[in-house]
Parts: sequence; C-alpha cells; structure tokens
Amino acid sequence: MLPPGSTVGILGVGQLGRMLASAATKLGFHAAAYGPGAVRSPAGMAAKPFEGDYLDVDAVTTFAKRCDVVTYEFENVPAETAAAVAASGTPLAPNAEALAASQERLREKTLFRDLGIGTVPFWQVDSADDLRTALAEAGPSIAKTRRFGYDGKGQARLTGSEDADAVWRELGEAPLLLEGFASFEREVSLIAARARSGDIAFFDLCENHHEGGILARSMIPAQADDRLVQQARQASKAILERLNYVGVLTVEFFVTKDGLLANEMAPRVHNSGHHTLEACSVSQFEQHIRAVTGWPLRPAATLRPSELLNLIGDQVNGWEKLVAEPGTDLTLYGKAEARPGRKMGHMVRPL
Ligand code: ADP
Ligand code: MG
Repeated sequence: MLPPGSTVGILGVGQLGRMLASAATKLGFHAAAYGPGAVRSPAGMAAKPFEGDYLDVDAVTTFAKRCDVVTYEFENVPAETAAAVAASGTPLAPNAEALAASQERLREKTLFRDLGIGTVPFWQVDSADDLRTALAEAGPSIAKTRRFGYDGKGQARLTGSEDADAVWRELGEAPLLLEGFASFEREVSLIAARARSGDIAFFDLCENHHEGGILARSMIPAQADDRLVQQARQASKAILERLNYVGVLTVEFFVTKDGLLANEMAPRVHNSGHHTLEACSVSQFEQHIRAVTGWPLRPAATLRPSELLNLIGDQVNGWEKLVAEPGTDLTLYGKAEARPGRKMGHMVRPL
C-alpha cells in the first residue's frame, strides 16, 4: 500500500484526470498530470501539471520517476509512453497489456470472444478488397477504424451495398473492423474495479443514451433483471482476471433480446460513471486511486437513483441558470472554448 504523501501520476490532462486528481488528494496523495497543454487544462486545476508530449520519452521518464505509481485517463496513450514508464521503474496501472487490448478494436473483440463473452460478428479488414468480401457477408454493418475512435468518430454505418473502395478511402485507408449491426434494446455500461489483492467491486449498471455518437444521458441504475446483471459482472470479471488488471475498467454492452453483447471496454474511469461522485457509496475516481495505490476497495452501492446529463458544446451556455437549480449537482470542466461536440461539464439529478 502506498502511504499518504506518495505521488500519483496521471497521463492525460482532461476532466477525467482532474477528477482522478481530486480523489487522490482526498486520500492524502499528491497528484501530477502529464500531457500537452497540462498547465491550462482541466487536470492542471487539480494536479501538479507537467507539460510534455506523449512521445517525448525523456520527459515521460522524468515525470514517471517523480511518481510512485502512474495511471492514465485515456486509452490512446501510445505504447512508447507506456514502455517509457515501465523502463523508469515506476509501476503503470492498469498495465500495458490492458492498455494495448483496449486501444485496438480487433484485439479487444478477440479478447472478448476468447473469454466466451458474446459480441456482434466481426471481420478484420486490412484493404478495400477485404472490405468488399466482409460487406457481402455482413450486410447491415458498421465499419470502425481499429484505433483512435471515440464518440462515434472513425465509423461508418453501412447497408452492405456500398462501394467498398469509397468507404475504405473515406475512413482514411486505415485498418478497420467491420461489425454486424446489432439491433439492441438498450445500451448499458458496467464500471468495476480490481484491487492489487485481486478483490473486485462492481458498480450498478448504467443505462446510456447517445446523441450524435456522444453520451448524452445516463440513468442509474439501469433497468435490468438479475440475470443481465450477473452476465455483465461475469464478463467484466473474466476480463479483469485475464489481464491481471488493477484499477477501474468499464465495459459497454448492448442489451439484445438474446442477452448481452460486449461492445467495447475502456481501461479507465468513464463518462457514464460521473454520478458515482454524488450518488454512490464511493466514486469511480476514488475506487481507481485506491486500486492503483494498493489500497482496499470500498463497496460500490448506489445510494440514490440518478440521471446524468452531459453538457456538450454550447449546452454549457446556460450555466448561470443551472448553477442555481437546487436539485442539480453541476460540474464544469473549466475548458475555455465550447467547441461543438466538446464535453464541457455534466449534471447529476436524483431520479
Ligand atoms: P466509440 O464510443 O469508441 O466511438 P462505439 O463502438 O461505442 O465507439 O460506438 C459508438 C456507438 O455506436 C455505440 O454506443 C452504439 O450506439 C453504436 N454502435 C457501435 N457499434 C454498433 C454495432 N455493431 N451495431 C449497432 N450499433 C453500434
Ligand atoms: Mg463507446
């Protein structure tokens, strides 16, 4: 167990990093955040900022050496950065294998399949010809770039009759995963944490609604019968144990009439879990910090059913009104510019 006064390093400078940093300082740790723009970033408000590029191995090494453990707030941390942390002698949690498995969609879905976790049918696509063949088999489908996709970016919805060459070009001639289109009833996410001891704690399922590919609203707990909850927990436990995972892991699922299909995972705290700060017995952020510092987890019960609403882009403009609503718990990320699609803050309200 790292003693209070130790330093938790965070790769990434966004709002998730900021909330991780606050949880770390709550427990008596120092928090440090590394990334480009760290000084004037959301994370830089709560952590000691270390300005630097992820691929600047010397700077990453210097940063890691000043920390007692390094974690991350986003899954696109380059492999070189993870390797630099490992070489510095400071532990990285979640480990580099978990990071690699979450940042490449083919590896991720293959892991799910190997663990017996249900997924949509999927095809590896490395050329326009592969895409043509796969499209003919798949019919209605979604093509996704295998790396760097988020908030629905790098994806194309297809009927199966498109011109494969045109789609291949539109998606940047990059390695793709073609997925059969799932007709789901609802989308849910499961946030869980695994401690260094191997203990696992699950939060309740969140029910997630997206608009334009971006999470707009979550309801907690999701309407789900016990069988569904157990199915999700089993899948998450299998992933956590296979990866010898330490920290918070989020798995997104489709609820179909035949049960759950795992869609993707995030090796980190998640947007659908922001309500855990106000409405649960422990927050996802504290749980993550406890895990990566070797502390015991806490039970993760929902104390108050809640809805979580994201403030995207100019939705933040009504903040003066929102901040005065007695029933609304408003969190603002302190980002200077409300660009379209940018997550600016969120609200939690009792349901
Ligand atoms: P990301 O969140 O990284 O952008 P996702 O794989 O979660 O990528 O896709 C974004 C959204 O697109 C999902 O939340 C879901 O609503 C929809 N979607 C993704 N894959 C499928 C699929 N195979 N079938 C139907 N809808 C899908
Ligand atoms: Mg997603």
